[in-house]
Amino acid sequence: MSEDSEPERNISGGDAGGGQAATFAAGEADTRAEAVVDRLGDIYWQKAYGGRDAFECLVRTILSQNTSDKASQPAHDALMDRYGNGGEEGRGEGDGDDHDLAAALAEADQTRLAETISSAGLYNQKSERIIALAERVREEYGGEAGFDEFVKTEDPDEVRTALLEMNGVGPKTADCVLLFSGGRDGVFPVDTHVHRIARRMGLAPPDADHEGVREHLERDVPAEKCGFGHTAMIQFGRDTCSARKPACLDDPDACPLADRCDRVGVDTTTGEVVDPAEALEAD
Ligand code: SF4
Repeated sequence: MSEDSEPERNISGGDAGGGQAATFAAGEADTRAEAVVDRLGDIYWQKAYGGRDAFECLVRTILSQNTSDKASQPAHDALMDRYGNGGEEGRGEGDGDDHDLAAALAEADQTRLAETISSAGLYNQKSERIIALAERVREEYGGEAGFDEFVKTEDPDEVRTALLEMNGVGPKTADCVLLFSGGRDGVFPVDTHVHRIARRMGLAPPDADHEGVREHLERDVPAEKCGFGHTAMIQFGRDTCSARKPACLDDPDACPLADRCDRVGVDTTTGEVVDPAEALEAD
């Protein structure tokens, strides 16, 4: 396992949210999904996640919606520079514990915040959502520290329900907060890469929606491997099993998971690639 195999950027935001190295016992996998995650563990760094500030994590995932990490990372950095600890619009003494990002963003001027996060796209909508979330966190949890404690200590189902009630927070965002902040085992967030690959490989039904894929993966992958499985599958989707050109199209041996894959919607004879749900309709 070389340093090169470390995903440079992932949904957790690269270095800042990169998790801690962890080793999983590959052993005899009980399910195909677990075997796939174990194999990914041979390719990429194995990691466990958790410990990040919950409100900042929420803000980061809102910024990353409908855009790439490359575009959302500078927006996150600019936001933290201005509203974070020591920033010109930070709240508190600016020297540590009493700074509150939620308070700073609840009081932010929307136009100014939109301009700060403009590189992330949809900046008007995102700035409105972030301010509304900050107000809610301040009102219901007393600020970012109270919210952090809630996410890290309360029952995961209760936390998930509370997050989903917030405007702009969908299942993927809620699961990312539970995983990257709460460090909760058994949470396998499903983004577009995970949704595609799990159905292509036959780990979930071809017509399963995001929630359906999440249920299959969380049922079949041991809890302690779910977080790593999520980030590794995203990286695998970027560098090997992409939406339009999975590596096996040119060369079946180019994919290290070929022996565990049903290739639903991938026709290596004609070179045609369709969404697995379309392949089901065509049958
Ligand atoms: S065999 Fe092809 S479709 Fe299956 S995981 Fe590998 S690249 Fe993706």
